[in-house]
Amino acid sequence: MSNRRMLLPIVVLVAAARVAGAAEQARVDVVEDLNLPSAARALLDSGGPAVHYNPLLIARLPSWLALFAMLHEEAHVHLGHPLQRADGVVDAGAPVADPVVRRGQEFAADCAAASRLEEQAPGVLAFIIAYFRGLGDERPSEALPAGTERARSLAGCVKSSIRRIAH
Ligand SMILES: [Zn+2]
Repeated sequence: MSNRRMLLPIVVLVAAARVAGAAEQARVDVVEDLNLPSAARALLDSGGPAVHYNPLLIARLPSWLALFAMLHEEAHVHLGHPLQRADGVVDAGAPVADPVVRRGQEFAADCAAASRLEEQAPGVLAFIIAYFRGLGDERPSEALPAGTERARSLAGCVKSSIRRIAH
C-alpha cells in the first residue's frame, strides 16, 4: 500500500533520533498529524508535550533535514520551552513571549539537536548549517531567527571540526 511506503522513512528517522538520543533523556511522544501546517512541531497534547509531524510535508524534506527538524522539536520539549496547545486553544492568560526570548529558544533547540547529531553524523551538521545559511538574512517572523542567524549560532555551538567542514 502506497500510504504505508510513504510513512516508512519517518519511522526510520524516529528510530534514528531515538538511537542518537542520550540515554538519560526522557522519550517524547511522536504523533502523526495530517492537519499540521508544518513538517514537525512540538505541541502540548492532553497527555503532555509531543512532537507532531505531518508525514506528507516531512516526506518533501531531504532526510537529513527531516531528522534535524524532529530533533529540534524534541529539544523544545526537553528544554521545557512553552508550547502551543495541539487543539489550537489559546490560553488567554498566558504572557506573550518576548521575541528575543523566542529566538533564543530556537537557537537553544538548534544547539541541542546539533549536539545529538555531532558525534554520530558531523557531515549532516555541515549540510544543515549550509542549508540555514542559504535561507538568507530575513526573519520568517519577529519571533523566528533568520537562516543566517541560525547558521551562525549552530556553527558556534558545534565542535571546531564541524565548523571547518561547514565553512
Ligand atoms: Zn523551534
